[in-house]
Amino acid sequence: MFGATGSVGQSALDLVARDADAYDVVALTGGRNVVQLAKDARALNADLAVTCHPECYHELKSLLAGTNVEVAAGPAAIADAAAHQVDWALSAIVGAAGLVPGLTALSHGTTLALANKESLVTAGRLLLGKAKAYGATVLPVDSEHSAIFQALVGEDMAAVERVIITASGGAFRDWPVEKLATATPAEASSHPNWNMGQRITIDSASMFNKAMEVIETKEFFDVSSDMIEVLVHRESLIHAMVGFNDGALMAHVGPPDMRHAIGYALHWPERKALPVERLDLANIGSLTFQAPDAARYPALAIATRVMEQGGLAGAVFNAAKERALDGFIAGDIGFLDMSQVVDATLDKMSSQTGMQNADITLDSVLETDRLARVYAGEAFSNLG
Ligand code: NDP
Ligand code: MG
Repeated sequence: MFGATGSVGQSALDLVARDADAYDVVALTGGRNVVQLAKDARALNADLAVTCHPECYHELKSLLAGTNVEVAAGPAAIADAAAHQVDWALSAIVGAAGLVPGLTALSHGTTLALANKESLVTAGRLLLGKAKAYGATVLPVDSEHSAIFQALVGEDMAAVERVIITASGGAFRDWPVEKLATATPAEASSHPNWNMGQRITIDSASMFNKAMEVIETKEFFDVSSDMIEVLVHRESLIHAMVGFNDGALMAHVGPPDMRHAIGYALHWPERKALPVERLDLANIGSLTFQAPDAARYPALAIATRVMEQGGLAGAVFNAAKERALDGFIAGDIGFLDMSQVVDATLDKMSSQTGMQNADITLDSVLETDRLARVYAGEAFSNLG
């Protein structure tokens, strides 16, 4: 389980711990939160616990002293953990760092439950091509994509006309647009409906998360960009809808609890009981829908641009977005500057590197990611 100490990882471990005898936990990976990592590795009797930070090795080792859990540290050790032969792996590291472990896990034909949307945005074709070549299965864990996947069971893709993914509107959905420039990381770090890691929560406030998910939808389901719609749905109860050529819309409705999507991927192709809330729709009363406001959420137009450009544009987009988010969290740039930085990085890289036509290999993706972070950092000083 990659990213076991994070928000998604902990939800997944909750499901595993409730039925611990049914699972043989091979490896858990985390980052700085070695206390949680050691606690879970002990409780679930994992074979291996890995932190991505070499400097955290000794602390993790001492926390696991007296157990049989093997301890390792560093990004290479995470990729090594992915090389273990397992039936099921969860990719829940945050950011582009999730790509290599995911790709490695696919080499032995495992089922990869993919929460790490950055892998699809950065290198969707590479990841899904590898899965195909090695007979591996990739299952979506992002709630919208799990919803689409479930709405498509037994359906013919040729009958699909459109795919609608919903968005809560994030922390600033009711703020005046003029005030957004002053938004702080603390203000952006609270989501109206979901409890998630800090980075994805800020990405929800800016709609960069939804921009990523639009690209993720295109990559995962191989639909054209003009078939994908974003709908603001404040209640976050309908996660996605699939529209068919007979006018039917199949909506997936459920509580905002990641244990549903994780559990669906854990038990797939079966559906098993999960400990999530059962919705009382009479009590909820009404569901609301709104078109997203382009001025409030410039990230959505950037997603369209990225899909039109294709090639390595997704890798540029993700890396620039990650760098801009780092800058916002550090207080170096403002909330609205993030989309300007991403746009400027796409401008610079499309004029310089011919990224639209480049081959998508792991090397080209990693080099593009590296360069885009440099250009995004440089763009900080040119902000208007
Ligand atoms: P968190 O920040 O809560 O957790 C991230 C995990 O990755 C932690 O285990 C963290 O370790 C680890 N980690 C951080 N950096 C690295 C690195 N460089 N190398 C290896 N491991 C690292 O994130 P979330 O759980 O919120 O999100 C995980 C992924 O799932 C993201 O791609 C996100 O977009 C996606 N997702 C999340 C949803 C949610 O509800 N949270 C919903 C849908 C998708 P540590 O914390 O110990 O430092
Ligand atoms: Mg989502």
